[in-house]
Amino acid sequence: MGIILEKLPGVTSALPGGELLLTTADTVIDWGRKSSVWPLTFGLACCAIEMMGAYASRFDFDRMGVIPRPSPRQADVMIVAGTVVKKMADPIIQIYHQMPEPRFVISMGSCANCGGPYWDSYSVVKGVDKIIPVDVYIAGCPPRPEALQYAVVKLQEKMMKMKLKNGFGAAPQQEKGSRDITA
Ligand code: SF4
Repeated sequence: MGIILEKLPGVTSALPGGELLLTTADTVIDWGRKSSVWPLTFGLACCAIEMMGAYASRFDFDRMGVIPRPSPRQADVMIVAGTVVKKMADPIIQIYHQMPEPRFVISMGSCANCGGPYWDSYSVVKGVDKIIPVDVYIAGCPPRPEALQYAVVKLQEKMMKMKLKNGFGAAPQQEKGSRDITA
């Protein structure tokens, strides 16, 4: 994460421990963010059971710093686990807006990715990315807890590339809103 300057004994000997660590604000902030990924606790359908399995003792999400939060105002990540029906589109957009920036979305399972087995249903949104921006997609029906953990690893890699000078990444993506879900 940084550089230990062993060739500056005059400087380092004056410091407690005798070492100097140089890093950047980006690295420290990104490291802190990726080490404390706090997802919002809500599930939409059967994929949520696998998500709950990831939090349980066998998979133990806590060891990756992934600790679920009951309030969107304390959450970094929304894990969309399950079928997104059109009635739920507006509440999902509202909850997304209640999360502080920078916020991230993981689309878990075929239903959240594209409608899954219900892709031609009158009542199902054909992918949650029609209403909010998605950072990581997980394939499967349902994906296993390991797949969700891998998605968090990929999200952490994305977090480590964020830069302060760019406003922490690319320009914020704008959600499309529930009016676009009729397609
Ligand atoms: S992708 Fe499969 S397991 Fe997940 S919510 Fe849809 S039907 Fe259920």
